[in-house]
Formats: sequence, C-alpha cells, structure tokens
Amino acid sequence: MALIVQKYGGTSVGDVERIKKVAERIKAFRDEGNQLVVVVSARSGVTNELIARAEAVCPNPPERELDQLLSIGEQETIALTAMALHGIGVPAISYTGAQAGIVTDMAHTKARIHSIDAEAMIKDINAGNVIIVAGFQGINSDGDITTLGRGGSDLTAIAIAGAIKADVCQIYTDVDGVYTADPRIVKNARKIEEISYDEMLELASSGSKVMQSRSVEFASKYDVVFEVRSSFNHNPGTIVKQEVASMEKVVVRGVAIDKNQAKIQLLGLADRPGTAAKVFRALATANIVVDMIVQNAGRDGVANLTFTAPANESAKAAKALEPILAELGGKIATHDQFAKLSIVGVGMKTHSGVAATLFTALAECGVNIDLISTSEIKITVAIEQAKADEAARAVHTAFGLDKA
Ligand code: ASP
Ligand code: MG
Repeated sequence: MALIVQKYGGTSVGDVERIKKVAERIKAFRDEGNQLVVVVSARSGVTNELIARAEAVCPNPPERELDQLLSIGEQETIALTAMALHGIGVPAISYTGAQAGIVTDMAHTKARIHSIDAEAMIKDINAGNVIIVAGFQGINSDGDITTLGRGGSDLTAIAIAGAIKADVCQIYTDVDGVYTADPRIVKNARKIEEISYDEMLELASSGSKVMQSRSVEFASKYDVVFEVRSSFNHNPGTIVKQEVASMEKVVVRGVAIDKNQAKIQLLGLADRPGTAAKVFRALATANIVVDMIVQNAGRDGVANLTFTAPANESAKAAKALEPILAELGGKIATHDQFAKLSIVGVGMKTHSGVAATLFTALAECGVNIDLISTSEIKITVAIEQAKADEAARAVHTAFGLDKA
C-alpha cells in the first residue's frame, strides 16, 4: 500500500468523457490498496477563457477579483471528478485549496505557498476516501482566494506530496514524459527515464517545457521525487529527482531548440561605466526577457553589445532603447530569424570535449554559430532559424541520443 499523489492536467480532464477515464484510473490504483490524493487542473482552455472575459469587462482587472474568477475552473473539475468516482462506487471528497489547508502569501495571481495544514485531508484519507484537490489555488491570511501562477496545479501537487510525505507523486499530462528532443522535429528522440531537477529546469528555459518551472524548483528545494507521465496510456514516464552519481555517465541528457528568437545588436555604444546598466535597465522596465548577452572588447571609446530576446519582442526592445541610444550614441540592428539550440546534461561538469563535439556537429551541417553561452550544465548557441531543425537532429545524433 502506498500513499500516492496524482495530478491531472487540463487535457486529461478536458471533458466529461476524459473525467470518467481519469476516475477509472484512480479507481484502479485504489483497488490495488493505495491511498490517493488527486489534484486536478481546470478543463483545458477554461482559464484562458476566464481571463478573456475578465479583460472584456475591465482592461486591467483588480487581481483579487481575477483570482476569485480564475479559481472557479478548478472548482468545476474537482466536483465532477468526485462525482465520477461516486458513479463507479469510489468514495471521494473534493477540496478547494482553502479546504485543503493551502495557505499562501498575499501576492494575488502569483502567490507562493507558505504552509499546508493537511490534517483534514489525512482524516478523510484514513476514513477510506479519495481526496480530490483543486490545483492552482490557495487562501491568504485575509481569507481571500489566491492563485499560484499559470500552470500552478503542478505546484499544488508537488507541495501536497511534500507535506504529506507521499510515497509517489505522478504528474499526468498529454505527453509521455520528457524527451531527449522534441519528437516532432527529431524523429529519433527517446523518452528519458530519469532526469535531474536542474536538467529539467534548463531544458524548460531552453524551449522544451513540460511543467511549470516553479514547481520543479519547489520539488528540488523540498526533494520531492515525481514522475511525469501520460494519462492517455499506461506507459511509464520520466522520473525527476536530485542528481545521482550514475546520471553523470550520460553527458548530454537532451537537446532543446527555441525558434522564436531575435538577435539585437547595439553598435558603437559609448564604452564607459554605466552603459550596460542603462541598456538593460531600459529593457527590464519594458518587461523584456533577454538571454544571451555578448559584448566585444571596446575600441576607440566605443563597444558593441549583442543579446537575444523573443522575436515577438524585438520591436518593443528597439522602442525601449531609443532614448538610451540617443544618449549614448550608437545604432541598433535587429535580426528576427534566429534560433537558440541548447544541450543540457549534468555530466558536462565532469566531461571534457562536449563543446568540441557540439561545434563539430554544427560545422558538419554547415551551420554558422552566431553567439555562444554556457553554464555548468548547458551550452547554448544562437544560429540561423532556417537551419535549427537540421542542426537539432545532427547534434542529437552526435551525442548518441538517437533511439536504437
Ligand atoms: N488552470 C490553470 C492554468 O491554466 C492551472 C493549471 O492548469 O495548472 O494555468
Ligand atoms: Mg495546465
């Protein structure tokens, strides 16, 4: 007998038929003698629809009211899931975030979980019930409903698994797990059996997102091992946990590409203290997330500064930088057809020659590398967008990731 936390995402509970399927799956685990706490998301599309309605009545809705509204998507699915279980003879009790004792800070729409008082849940579990908890919501110390940021049902599940010391935490979604590359692009991509929290976070920030990153960070902090798997089949998924020694044998765990990138160059900026600070302050004020930053050595009192940003933000970036360029001199050149290709793996910490293998694979398919950045477990290159898919396939092969 195990204490299991399961989380079903929006597509897994997308309509009443899917909810009935989820109920069957829950019943099968319970019939094996397990105890279950099940976290559900809103039906897919519902949260977006609610946001659109809020904006239709008020361009900038108060966040407290937004949370009152957004939390109803999950309230629908907890009640329907509990009912579906009753329909097949399984005693189930639905809980809102507040009823589950999930207390957050005051930050509406992006609240952080402070504590979970699981006493009521545990009493109901021990009485033989399956507990169905609304994901993505909690309550603050004023008694107001808060939400945990988009995709926050993952966080609810991981936090509950940590709080009740569950034996197993399963995150059910519409993909089979984490892959060595996007299988739509790299036909030979494989499902990864085990991955570390850090690798998962780096892959997500490089363009292959399976889960809310905050949830993975939370799991890492509290050491909650979880499995990402599909609710549409019975295949084992990917186990996500702290790195273990054997994991280092694999040098590169996965390849990610992000094709929606722009390269922005600032040419001939005054080379003096405060220049970069002004540039990136202006971008931050405009809420633009920049990534790779490269500055060349200054010459004759001027220097060039290059960075990448999401392609759909390059016009906004140029606008935000107008006053800075007027002040510091210099010109801007934006190129929207860029992609980032990243390789990620904890094994890089202890292996040499990883960069050489990457650059050789790119050279062999005629890809020019524009920018390079590295972290302890990741190397990213900015390359021409049109070549990104081909490059991903070549790099995947070069690191021995192709399926047998
Ligand atoms: N329903 C929320 C969202 O769409 C939370 C979640 O699905 O995890 O962001
Ligand atoms: Mg979701």
